[in-house]
Amino acid sequence: MRGVRRTENGIEVVDLPRPEADGVRIKVQSIGICQTDLNLTAMGPLQFTLGHEFAGVLDDGTPVGVQPTVPCGQCELCRNGDSVWCVEGYSRLIGIGQDGGMADEVIVPASSIVPLPRGLDATNGANLIEPLAIHLHTLDLARATGRTRILVVGANQSGFGVIAVAAALARGGEHVDFEGDRAFQREAAARLGAGVEPSGQYDLVIEADGSEESIHKAAEWARPGGTLALVAGYYTPKTWNFTTAFVKELTVVFGAFYGHSATGRDVDAAATLLGRNPRIAEIVNTHRFPLDAAAEAFEFARSDSESLKVVIEP
Ligand SMILES: [Zn+2]
Ligand SMILES: [Zn+2]
Repeated sequence: MRGVRRTENGIEVVDLPRPEADGVRIKVQSIGICQTDLNLTAMGPLQFTLGHEFAGVLDDGTPVGVQPTVPCGQCELCRNGDSVWCVEGYSRLIGIGQDGGMADEVIVPASSIVPLPRGLDATNGANLIEPLAIHLHTLDLARATGRTRILVVGANQSGFGVIAVAAALARGGEHVDFEGDRAFQREAAARLGAGVEPSGQYDLVIEADGSEESIHKAAEWARPGGTLALVAGYYTPKTWNFTTAFVKELTVVFGAFYGHSATGRDVDAAATLLGRNPRIAEIVNTHRFPLDAAAEAFEFARSDSESLKVVIEP
């Protein structure tokens, strides 16, 4: 079968043996390219198949999404119900530490399966369960309430900030604004219901770009005593002059994963939201490439293209 890997030659579609392991086989139908994929593959060759934002069908044709984290279940955090912070975290993450879904087929643990609600399709939308779940989880960590003025700063190269807008609006942000450099990003955020001319200060600022400049700007937008959520994926060292955050006594939270909230798994909440509001996928999934053109898809996502989420289809 085909699988997409980062080899010595860059992004390549390679021939791989059909996966055989314990778990549930998924015939993959859609995979989103994430900023994390762009960052990791820029660092050099990787030993596993890419793809952690994917959906597909089971052997019997049932469409499903996937929660790519595979907590060990053994460490103290897992045993205490905090598997979101499992000590083995990244090394067991599907598509980041082990073979992912940028392939014709993949086998995942049964616990990773996300049933899809009516209105959510494995070919369009279910690829957004994972990034949306990160934002829902982060909003919980930030204790965002329905009366919060929220600003999202930056969208990054995979539309992550626009997905944050959808999450913030769904969690009842009374007033959600988006600040982005590029007109197509602002237009997408506005279509979802965000204001795009930020003003004043915000109870919660979500930094979704990842640059030092954006982190600094985000702290400036936060009100004294407010919260700064850093979600953009920080895989290289950042220098941050946090004097502004200090004098405002900001609460700083990082959001990288998803797990359980009081009401269930974040991935299931994300699937429900995507099913209820098909406009999110319509607006965020801006481009599609066949799996054989994965190298072009990565190049396109990395370029100055007017893209949010670039989706690969086996
Ligand atoms: Zn991702
Ligand atoms: Zn664990």
